[in-house]
Amino acid sequence: MTVRGRFAPTPSGFLHIGNARTALLAWLQVRKAGGQFLLRMEDIDKPRSRPEYARQIIDDLRWLGLDWDEGPDVGGPFAPYVQSEREALYEEALSKLDAAGLLYPCYCSRAELQAIASAPHGLASEGPAYPGTCRELTAAEREARAARKPPSLRFMTDNAPIFFEDLAAGRQSFPGGPGGDFIVKRADGIFSYQLAVVVDDAAMGITDVLRGSDLLDSTARQLVLFEALGLAPPRYAHVPLLNGPDGRRLSKRHGAVALAALRSAGTSAENLVGYLAYWSGLLDRPEPVRAEELIPGFRLSRVPKHPVAVSADVLERL
Ligand code: GLU
Repeated sequence: MTVRGRFAPTPSGFLHIGNARTALLAWLQVRKAGGQFLLRMEDIDKPRSRPEYARQIIDDLRWLGLDWDEGPDVGGPFAPYVQSEREALYEEALSKLDAAGLLYPCYCSRAELQAIASAPHGLASEGPAYPGTCRELTAAEREARAARKPPSLRFMTDNAPIFFEDLAAGRQSFPGGPGGDFIVKRADGIFSYQLAVVVDDAAMGITDVLRGSDLLDSTARQLVLFEALGLAPPRYAHVPLLNGPDGRRLSKRHGAVALAALRSAGTSAENLVGYLAYWSGLLDRPEPVRAEELIPGFRLSRVPKHPVAVSADVLERL
C-alpha cells in the first residue's frame, strides 16, 4: 500500500521552528517510504484563521525544501487542500453520527464547565472532563435550555477505555465514559477540529500521521470517530515537541522563532534545516543541509523520545 502522509497547519499564526520541524519529519517519513505527501490548511475555525498566514506558511514550507504531491487543483505547483472549502463533507459525517444516535445537544457554557474542573478526567484534556450534564436531559429540559442558548453538538463516547499503539510514543490508553464526550460542532456552527481531521484523513487516504505529541489525546477522540463512521484510521507517530530554554513549549514568547522573522533576518534554509535535523537526532551536529539530503538517513527511531530544549544562544545565532 502506498504511504500517504500530510502536514496540516492551522493558519492562525506564522509557522515557527517547532511546527517546521514537525513538517520536516512528516515529509521525511513519507519521502523515505516513496509515498505521497499532502498539505492541508486547517482553517475550519474561520475567526482564528487568516489567508495571509496560510500564504506565508506555504511559502515557508517551499523555502524549507518541502513539497507536496497533490491538491484540489490540477497542475502544479499544487495549492493545498483547504478545510473551509470542504464543509459539505463534515456535514455529511455529522448526519451519519446523528442518525446513529451518537450526538446530543449540549447547552453548557464554558464558564459552567470551568466551575466543575474537579470532575474525574475522561478523554478530554482540552479542558475539564465533561460532567455529562446534557447527556441525560429530558425533552422538556432540552426545550427550556434551547430557548436560552443555541446548543453545541457533543459526541457520546463509550464507556470502554481506548488503547492504541503509537509508532513514536508507544502504547497509549485513555479512559472512556461521559468525561470524554467531546464537541463535534460548536454552538456558533463551526465544526470541531476532531471531526474535520477525521473526515479529511479518511477522504485523503492518509496512511500515516506524524505530528506533535500535544495531539496525543486528540488521537483517542479521532479513533473513536473513525470507528463510529466506519472508516479505517491511519497509523500515528507523535513526536515530542521542541521546548524553549525555559523548558516550556517553543512559541512566540521565546523571541523570533517564526520562519518569516528568521528569513528576513537572513537565515538560510540549509542552516535552519540543519538545526531541525540535529534536534531530531538525524544529524550529530547542526550543519547546513538540504531537506532532501536527509531522506536516506531518516528513521523514526532516531527522533528523541523526550522534548528537546533549544538553548538561548542557538536561538540568538539562528
Ligand atoms: N491543525 C492542527 C494544528 O495545527 C494539527 C492537525 C494534525 O496534524 O492533525 O495543531
